[in-house]
Amino acid sequence: MLASNNRRGEERVGPENSGDDAFGYLREGERLLMALWEDLTMPGLEALRQQTQTVILPLGSLEEHGPHLPLGTDTFHALEVARRVAKLRPVVVAPPLFYGMCRSTREHPGTVSISGDAFRAMLLSVGREFCRQGWHNLVFVSGHAGGTHISAIVEAGELLLAELPEARIAVVNLLEVLREVLGDQPDLVQTRGDSHAGEVETAIMMAAYPDLVRGAAPEEWPRFPKYVLVRDKRRYWPGGVWGNPAPATAAQGEAILTAEADSLSMIISKLEEFGGC
Ligand SMILES: [Zn+2]
Repeated sequence: MLASNNRRGEERVGPENSGDDAFGYLREGERLLMALWEDLTMPGLEALRQQTQTVILPLGSLEEHGPHLPLGTDTFHALEVARRVAKLRPVVVAPPLFYGMCRSTREHPGTVSISGDAFRAMLLSVGREFCRQGWHNLVFVSGHAGGTHISAIVEAGELLLAELPEARIAVVNLLEVLREVLGDQPDLVQTRGDSHAGEVETAIMMAAYPDLVRGAAPEEWPRFPKYVLVRDKRRYWPGGVWGNPAPATAAQGEAILTAEADSLSMIISKLEEFGGC
């Protein structure tokens, strides 16, 4: 058996194992294990298109996440949930977009925030291409929950909806999904108001990318002035954490990711069945 483990931890099965592997699918027995756009071949992608018209575009940020989590945390989060959904149902997962819009971490080293114009233009352009190729169900999943960032995704989604008659579009903010999950499982997260590089994101990264977690970090509860926009944003939260990373565990991260993937899979079911306007 020709097999090797890639960075994402799956076993790539070689072409001698089954006919379909020639398409570049990752298979576990007869089950489609992974459907990453960039890993598939042309016939592999075409064959998958016969099963589904749904493409997930993972979105996030390049943004400081305290002294202990990687700058790509938000994007890794969205990618991990998308990958898990690809094990639950036929979808294709597009390569993630790391560049997003960040406000309150703008002054911290490592944060790269692009303009709303650039971000929307990218989403519009990529969205049009997906639809042109017959992928009419567009699922934008964001691991970054900044208000301006999410608004830009919604705006791009609305423009695509107006332009492309066959498109069905979902904009999924994973923070919102987690809030719904916590409605059913309130004990999943201990820290109330945990929002950035705290318990939740630390747990997720411990589960999905343990090699990128550098220990823990002190808890921090920034207080920005209300209504007033501030220039020196770093002054209000020097450590770049909003919440408390201490209680995080890998098992907790696994439970959160499982719940988020189940929720996203249900959202996609509804999107695929959605017949109205
Ligand atoms: Zn984050």
